[in-house]
Amino acid sequence: MAAVVCGVLTMACKTQTSVGDFATYPEYTKNDLGLTYTPEKSTMKLWAPAAESVVLRIYEEGLGGEALETIQMKKGAKGTWSASVEGDRKGQFYTYQVTEEGKTLDETPGVWNKAVGANGLRAAIIDLADTNPEGWADDKRIEVENFSDIVIYEMHHRDFSIADNSGITNKGKFLALTEKGTRTPEGLASGIDHLKELGITHVHILPSYDYGSIDETRLEENNYNWGYDPKNYNAPEGGYSTDPFTPEVRIREMKQMVQALHEAGIGVIMDVVYNHTFVNDGSNFSLTAPGYYYRQNDEGDYSNASGCGNETASERPMVRRYITESVKYWAKEFHIDGFRFDLMAIHDIETMNLIRSELDKISPSIFVYGEGWMASSTPLPVEQQASKHNGPKFPRIAVFSDDIRDGLRGEWMSAGEGGFATGKVTNRQKESIKFGVVGATQHPQVDYEAVNYSSAPYANDPIEVINYVSCHDDECLRDKIDMVAKDATPEQRKRMDLLAQTVVMTSQGVPFIFCGEELYRSKQHIRNTYNLPDEVNRIDWSHKAKHNDVFTYYKELIRMRRNHPAFRMATTEQVVENLKFHDSPEGTVMYTINGAAVGDDWSEVLVIYNGNRGGVDVDFPMGDWNLVCEDGRMQLDSPRPFTGGSFYVHGTSAIIAFK
Ligand code: CA
Repeated sequence: MAAVVCGVLTMACKTQTSVGDFATYPEYTKNDLGLTYTPEKSTMKLWAPAAESVVLRIYEEGLGGEALETIQMKKGAKGTWSASVEGDRKGQFYTYQVTEEGKTLDETPGVWNKAVGANGLRAAIIDLADTNPEGWADDKRIEVENFSDIVIYEMHHRDFSIADNSGITNKGKFLALTEKGTRTPEGLASGIDHLKELGITHVHILPSYDYGSIDETRLEENNYNWGYDPKNYNAPEGGYSTDPFTPEVRIREMKQMVQALHEAGIGVIMDVVYNHTFVNDGSNFSLTAPGYYYRQNDEGDYSNASGCGNETASERPMVRRYITESVKYWAKEFHIDGFRFDLMAIHDIETMNLIRSELDKISPSIFVYGEGWMASSTPLPVEQQASKHNGPKFPRIAVFSDDIRDGLRGEWMSAGEGGFATGKVTNRQKESIKFGVVGATQHPQVDYEAVNYSSAPYANDPIEVINYVSCHDDECLRDKIDMVAKDATPEQRKRMDLLAQTVVMTSQGVPFIFCGEELYRSKQHIRNTYNLPDEVNRIDWSHKAKHNDVFTYYKELIRMRRNHPAFRMATTEQVVENLKFHDSPEGTVMYTINGAAVGDDWSEVLVIYNGNRGGVDVDFPMGDWNLVCEDGRMQLDSPRPFTGGSFYVHGTSAIIAFK
């Protein structure tokens, strides 16, 4: 998420309701916070260590109506408050209301709820077992040998399915990803079949926990938001369900989505935004333990590293515990395959390492990565920040490489500046590309001083970096190229797009593409589309026929990567041993990989990227080469033989050859 996005989301005032001596707050380590349901009784427990009293209210509905019961909760051990209601209360709702320092706060569903009514205002009494779709017990997450085997596809539910021509019935819903056999008007595969055809291994769904910016009671108005405004962290977003009023439905439908993707061999990664909340004093955090969950600046106000008006304090024990338990819950209950941490540098390293080790106990295949930066300044000391520069201190967690991204397309701050793929081929671009090629690891042939934003490697191993050239933030790739290469022809711009993704897909590390790039999508050259209408954000599925050359190229690139371990080395040692750069003309990068050494049936691989608009002659090593990529075409099934020597590489194109 870009800083510019959430700045406008800030709604609450900046005053702190209370700043206690948080160090004295007791840590509660049992796993019974929130609801414990049985048909005989329901017990609610919350952690509110500074509360003077807490009232529990039971309601018939998720919205409106008078409370059926109002119960004084009892103070228990370690800052907890609890109450029980007799009988089978399934289908009812509840809220807590905390009084602290003589002030009675607003009602809240608490922070440990797992089910909520419409707009997430009241927690729901449900039996989670009722939410499991048929066959759920047999559902298995996707196992991966190395994280570098993953190919990520980042998507928003509405972008993917909302267009009239998506061929999908449940437009903008979790269920969209359960529909098989859907077609574009031209008869090409859309939806989940399209994802299978493209060959990606994991979808990264934009925020799908309950967020605040969409009114779930007015879904017919088709409002759009990315969802970086968390409200209830452990319940799915109601706007993506077919019925936000019935709490089980959103849970069941999200599980159905996971199940369908798993059946298609595709993992599900959740975008999680624990670094801030939608509102300040009105958040569920603030309404249960005012001040505790957030960092404060010297004046005692909310500090604001998220740019959204607040930042959470992961270093405090119960915040660390909350984030960790929340992630574990999604992994266990929803069989989630990975987590992408928004503005991860706001979190402290100890917390991220704890999350990694706890997830490893569930499955070492669960992938964790995040944005190794923040939007503004923080009181958290630099050495504790889970930033990309501290990357070596949190092993097996990847960070996004803005170095290769901007090296390829141009710097994000300057709209008019291009990058290597668009023909700006200075040494800085070239070394940033090489930095990406080696997966942000230590390699003797990379000049780190010349790399875009980093003077040192940040990945211990290539599995700890996400290589990408576009995501939901900023212009999508096609739009960025249009803006920085105004002098280029439409054909040249398409070649720039293909070259950029070729670098991403051939680099060591974990490749990541933004939904619709494979269909040459445009967002009308708008940079920040977080709350713009579907007309701007939706995928136009007619592009699949119109730009089938792009789709086919992407598909073949992904197929090549997945079939050839030479592009997916797991360790830095392997990369240093087996990947060598060679002298090549200005504006080009050329390297070879010893495929045989990493078990590839391509015993040697040669890759050349030509960022120049014009063609160049390169000195191709002698040997029985087979060209599988040249002049903007992939030809995996009909490689062209070549025996080496002088070779003309067309402008804005890549060469991939093997022997
Ligand atoms: Ca919501």
